[in-house]
Amino acid sequence: MSGIVIIGAGECGTRAAFALREAGYSGTIILVGAEPHLPYERPPLSKPMDGAVRMKPICTDDALAAAGIDYRRGVSAATLDVAAATVILSDGRPLTYEKLLLATGARPRKLACPGAERALDFRTHADAEAIFANVRAGVSAAIIGAGLIGMELASVLRGRDVAVSIIEAAPKPLGRAVPPRFAEGLHARHVSEGVSFHLDRGVVAIDDGGVLLADGSRVQAQLVVSAIGVVPEISLAQQAGLATGNGILTDACLRTSAADIFAAGDCAAVSQPGGGHVRFESWRNARDQAATAARNMLGAAEPFAAIPWFWSDQYDLGLQVVGLPQPFHRSIVRSSGDKEIAFYLEDGRLVAAAGLGVGSAAAKDIKLAEMLVAAGVTPDPAALADPDANLKMLLKSVRAA
Ligand SMILES: Cc1cc2nc3c(=O)[nH]c(=O)nc-3n(C[C@H](O)[C@H](O)[C@H](O)COP(=O)(O)OP(=O)(O)OC[C@H]3O[C@@H](n4cnc5c(N)ncnc54)[C@H](O)[C@@H]3O)c2cc1C
Repeated sequence: MSGIVIIGAGECGTRAAFALREAGYSGTIILVGAEPHLPYERPPLSKPMDGAVRMKPICTDDALAAAGIDYRRGVSAATLDVAAATVILSDGRPLTYEKLLLATGARPRKLACPGAERALDFRTHADAEAIFANVRAGVSAAIIGAGLIGMELASVLRGRDVAVSIIEAAPKPLGRAVPPRFAEGLHARHVSEGVSFHLDRGVVAIDDGGVLLADGSRVQAQLVVSAIGVVPEISLAQQAGLATGNGILTDACLRTSAADIFAAGDCAAVSQPGGGHVRFESWRNARDQAATAARNMLGAAEPFAAIPWFWSDQYDLGLQVVGLPQPFHRSIVRSSGDKEIAFYLEDGRLVAAAGLGVGSAAAKDIKLAEMLVAAGVTPDPAALADPDANLKMLLKSVRAA
């Protein structure tokens, strides 16, 4: 039975399935997911509560049934034949489609050194269970990679009295997505919590005792986790001959090089107005692209234009970043008791903001900043820096104008 087939039952694929129904689609929806569980959220995996690995389903079986979504769990799409509009599943069954969404996400980048197989990955619920099965007070852990996932894991492990070393090839942690002032703040917090950093060091080998570094030093560890980033899962798209690069290439409307096939979420590299393709790896991007892809599969021609946003929780601190802060932006900092917000201006226009605070202290300001970014305002820098200048009022005055 033809209809819409979605490959990948992560945040993006699952959200897209429901968005199709919300948009009024009444045909068949088949959601194919390689993992054996109900679709679940990944962010809680690195933010366990009470020390237990959390499985937070995105939806229930009842919700899938009520929406008429045929969820095929624990089965993967093995091959895709674009000319025949058919996917062959790993159990040998064929699925034909009118429209196909590739929401295949990303998989952990692999270390290439001797002993690399000793390092645990951190992407799936099964990975989290394997890591936390080894966690108890007094254990020593080496985390390879000081990106968001590695740093979040470090904060959780310190809370469990695990001795944590972080090994990073770059000279600083969190160099990729986090503005330097906040990366430095988080780094300092990890140091004060007792995390030992080995920066600017490559990994040469992993063995029984831990990790051997390029400078000849050794990090003793009973538990080694590799958190060196992810690569987009593009193998199905490649096998089918779709255009790929650092992701499955799409136009601005999330359509791939094949007219009836769309891609969204961590696997999709989306064409940008200024040229090139951009791929995001964040929870909200997966959801936003799912909604746009669903509408476009039903005939809309909506360019994907959501403002990027992500968060990270480390210790009692919450980081939020909206837009894409760049080194060449003028940054204006507003500080108050339990939070610091940085606003980023390009030619006077507010284009991004980031905030770090205790718990969700920065959340409200970042939400307002997001609305100001969307409104394209050119605010008075002095007002942005002044913690007493109300962002809500600023937004109201912009809207009134
Ligand atoms: C531990 C962790 C913590 C995170 N924390 C945050 C956070 O705090 N904030 C934030 O913004 N983001 C966070 N993220 C990132 C966020 O979870 C991802 O960006 C989001 O899950 C991407 O969703 P997706 O559906 O595109 O891809 P995925 O979640 O990777 O889902 C893709 C699914 O497709 C399946 N699949 C792949 N190929 C096939 C195939 N051929 N057939 C069938 N199924 C297939 C995969 O098994 C997978 O289940 C975190 C990620 C991790 C791993």
